[in-house]
Amino acid sequence: MKLTLPPRIGPRAFDTALGAFAGVVGKDWVMAGDADRDAYADVYAPGPEEQWPASAAVAPASVAEVQAVVRLANTHKVPLWPVSRGKNLGYGTAAPRMAGSVVLDLGRMNRIIDIDPKLATCVLEPGVSFFDLYEAIDREKLPLWLSVPGNAWGSVLGNAFEHGIGYTPYGLHARNLCGFEVVLPDGDVVRTGMGAMTGNHAWHLHPLSYGPTFDLAFTQSSLGVVTRAGLWLQPAPAASLELVFDIPDEDDIGWVIDTIAPLKIAGLIDQNVFVPSWLGKMVLKGQRHDFWDKPGAIPDWRVKELLAQYKLGYWQVALRFYGEETVIRARADVVRAAMARHLAAPPAEHWWHTGDSRNVIDTTMGVPSAVPLQMSDWVGGRGAHMGFSPVVPATSEHVMGQLKRSRAIIAAHDVDFYASFTIGGRFATNINMLMFDRDQPDQIANMKKLFNALIGETARAGYGEYRTHLGWMDTVMDTYDFNNHALRRLNERIKDALDPNGIIAPGKQGVWPAAFRDQAKEGRA
Ligand code: ADP
Repeated sequence: MKLTLPPRIGPRAFDTALGAFAGVVGKDWVMAGDADRDAYADVYAPGPEEQWPASAAVAPASVAEVQAVVRLANTHKVPLWPVSRGKNLGYGTAAPRMAGSVVLDLGRMNRIIDIDPKLATCVLEPGVSFFDLYEAIDREKLPLWLSVPGNAWGSVLGNAFEHGIGYTPYGLHARNLCGFEVVLPDGDVVRTGMGAMTGNHAWHLHPLSYGPTFDLAFTQSSLGVVTRAGLWLQPAPAASLELVFDIPDEDDIGWVIDTIAPLKIAGLIDQNVFVPSWLGKMVLKGQRHDFWDKPGAIPDWRVKELLAQYKLGYWQVALRFYGEETVIRARADVVRAAMARHLAAPPAEHWWHTGDSRNVIDTTMGVPSAVPLQMSDWVGGRGAHMGFSPVVPATSEHVMGQLKRSRAIIAAHDVDFYASFTIGGRFATNINMLMFDRDQPDQIANMKKLFNALIGETARAGYGEYRTHLGWMDTVMDTYDFNNHALRRLNERIKDALDPNGIIAPGKQGVWPAAFRDQAKEGRA
């Protein structure tokens, strides 16, 4: 990819800035060739990668180097886009929101600083991947489990910072974070929570600060570069039981939610319960042309045929319990009875005990995998996906309303429908996966129209997205409009106070610093 300079920076000034960065990290860790820019491009972009181009990348190896780079970025007015491992596929990968930003690649800072098996915590640098942490725990045979996202290729912290979700009792990943170290936009370093006291022993254990608690203000944020964070882990259970229910019809999702959410809120189910529609299973069986060879969405009659042929319900609920076997048995009895009020067929049951191996593609057991990425192959060609992800209250009324609304909009755009609801307790995260071939301009244009329609109509109905792709960060921020966009105004005031030169992640989540506010209209999909 050819060079796109940051706004208002000439080629000479840019080279000077890169030279200064090289003085800190060494010239091998400033990457500014065409092939380097390709490596940081959004390989799932809905459109050409050139829409969200990085100008270069710089990869520091320590907190002191991050501080030095951030200070130089201020001096040279060069914007940085921090990433941990930059595998945020479907949301922008490693690419920046503002064209010409320099990716601050933290992948070299990949130390597992501490793992405490007794209190089930760890302390990580941003470059630690799910596989790194899984292997370290496995190597030392520590009694700890991870919670992993569908695509576990990236970093543990980057995923949590982006509010990623998993399918275990620790599935709301940002909630497991405890105690941060952050380089602020002026290069200062702060430790949050108890870590604000030198040598405090409870930094990664007590989740609140003395005074305001800032931890989560550094997630989905442009207020600093996180250089380490504490994370709570799940104690390895003695046993685990999976109950798999096939749920026959689309409209059954209503009773499924009304049955499971109260049990989750009451603590009888502790897992984040993932309820995917049938296409979630089909994408692992082949490509769409294996099942339907015409353009446009697979018609409902063919879906019915496929469900019968492959013995699939419209939805599948794979509920998992963790802990002592006697407790699991008691909980499972309650859940089975509650489900049996609506469903005649008993669930398939799979026990696991300490010492048994874990299924490598079962995200509910905390084993990292990239298998779910196979969905990008569904349409063929240079396949990619995006997720449209509103959050809804966990009741049938809201879930059915959202299902019908997004289903109708997606059908009107003639796109295959793949929805999932992940029941997190009082809310459900509704991820609608939209797959497309990046080499088909018609598909991309249709996808963009569809995405805008989904955001607009969903917001009008009273629901917002929890996360989105670079191209819609502003569109989604626009929907958080209470009191004439008071949230954006608050974000901008804080941003401008901490980052007067606007050098950290300008435009992240639709928050623009004064220095680059004129760029907000660029790069919208
Ligand atoms: P992953 O490593 O899981 O692939 P990314 O590195 O793509 O995740 O991070 C996702 C997003 O989180 C980034 O686009 C960035 O906005 C934010 N982010 C990641 N790491 C940091 C960090 N260390 N400090 C601040 N923000 C970060």
